[in-house]
Amino acid sequence: MDIKANLEAVKKSFVNPSCQLIAVSKTKPIEDLKAAYAAGIRDFGENKVQEIQAKQPEMPTDTRWHMIGHLQSNKVKYIAPYVHLIHGVDSFKLLKEINKQGKKINRVIPVLLQMHIAEEESKFGFDQTELEEMLNSEEFAQLTHVQIKGLMGMATFTENSDQIRKEFRGLKTLFEELKKRDLPPFVHLEDLSMGMSGDYQIAQEEGSTMVRIGSAIFGARNYSQGRTEKKYSH
Ligand SMILES: *Cc1c(COP(=O)(O)O)cnc(C)c1O
Repeated sequence: MDIKANLEAVKKSFVNPSCQLIAVSKTKPIEDLKAAYAAGIRDFGENKVQEIQAKQPEMPTDTRWHMIGHLQSNKVKYIAPYVHLIHGVDSFKLLKEINKQGKKINRVIPVLLQMHIAEEESKFGFDQTELEEMLNSEEFAQLTHVQIKGLMGMATFTENSDQIRKEFRGLKTLFEELKKRDLPPFVHLEDLSMGMSGDYQIAQEEGSTMVRIGSAIFGARNYSQGRTEKKYSH
């Protein structure tokens, strides 16, 4: 697996060259992360707290760790001191916990709100009603140690590119709509995290600012050693 060559090929195929690339290194050994680092990558995406915890001390200190998967509230405290961006904030409960942990260590933690845009019921994320409820609540306005930097979404896993495009477009529309709203100062909507190995070009055409790419860089993942990837079984 030539990680450097894969990275070059991926970047060359970007529709929007200024879109940020997050290299999704979940399940991959530290040597693979180091190879990507040597090729210039600083942003790495992981979806398990335990795995970030294990890899973080092994990588140079300027590595930026992105938590891209579903995050359980009781695990926030482990990554709160160093996580660069939490992409998968999918409930108000989780956001409040991140705020609480940030407060404890006096750090404002950058997050994205994950919206449910796919047809599949199994994918995590806010629906529009839940989002509105949160945005309109008094408790929300009082958060002090989170910074909401944008939205994240995962499209349906399908060959139907029109379907994928429609879902990304819907997320972009919501993103633009929210930007115009009068929201608390800790909401700075600038990042739209959408697109993975199979759909990043469509995502970029639809306005993605950040793509999360794993298998196109590091090769297919092998989950045969007892690993499970709950609610994300492509
Ligand atoms: C695994 C994962 C990715 C990367 O998937 P690839 O298809 O390997 O590029 C992106 N986003 C999330 C949330 C993931 O869990």
